Amino acid sequence: MPEGDSLYKIAAMLRCLVGGEVRALESPLPGLEDAVDRAPGMRVSATEARGKNLLIWLAAAGEDASHAIYTHLRMTGSWHLYRPGAEWKKPSHRMRVRLDVCLGDGTRWHAVCFSAPVVEWLSAFAVRQHPVLSTLGPDMLADSLHVDDIIARLRIDGHRAIGDAIMDQRLVAGIGNVYKSELLFIERIDPFAPVRALDDDTLRRLIETARTWMRRNLGPGRRRTRWDSRGKRTWVYDKSGDPCGHCGEPIRMTRQGDLGRSTYYCPRCQGVGDSGGRASRRRGRIVVRGAGE
Ligand SMILES: [Zn+2]
Repeated sequence: MPEGDSLYKIAAMLRCLVGGEVRALESPLPGLEDAVDRAPGMRVSATEARGKNLLIWLAAAGEDASHAIYTHLRMTGSWHLYRPGAEWKKPSHRMRVRLDVCLGDGTRWHAVCFSAPVVEWLSAFAVRQHPVLSTLGPDMLADSLHVDDIIARLRIDGHRAIGDAIMDQRLVAGIGNVYKSELLFIERIDPFAPVRALDDDTLRRLIETARTWMRRNLGPGRRRTRWDSRGKRTWVYDKSGDPCGHCGEPIRMTRQGDLGRSTYYCPRCQGVGDSGGRASRRRGRIVVRGAGE
């Protein structure tokens, strides 16, 4: 599943459409007939990532944005930008929505969404009422981060495991499976520890480290949560059975939460099974280092 930073990058890529006029909107999906009729003639007013959700806002001339194309990409979806006539990199039968946009200087773009499981045409009112969009927690990549608010939300159910709670987009928006495993490892937190076993300082550090890495990954290049002279990009994610880069113990994977999402961890570094849920402090923390530091 794309993480919040991927959605910010997609929103930034599509920002070249802002100000352009929609010449056509094409979609094979039921429920988008109204969009096919109404979008032509509207202007793209903004592109917006909220957690792992993407909104492309459209406005009639001289008015505020009245509608949005809402997509959630989950595991399979993607947005591409093409010049008219350019060959698509994915088969056309996977196209879910295509926007033909003409900019003021005559530049033409086709923005094409492939394979997204969620594509909706929403009025601004419907966005405010939307069951997913209206219940999102604070966005990890928002300009200002309200850490105390996030901690309070994580504590709503103190019995819930931190590895499950941190992925709940209603509590904090933008953290997916990769960041979950990586950040809990970096901060030496047992993914199965209940939130109530973790003090505020630990939760604060987890959130701040998440933001640091997610913002760092907004730049060009592939996502990384590890800076390593041998080019390794991650510590534990998708490394089940490999030796831990810190202690050598085999990395494990356990499915977690109601959705059975995979959680990767080092049992020794993260003190899995320890009472209290946190690795002992004498093992120290892994210092976050990145490009340019
Ligand atoms: Zn380890």
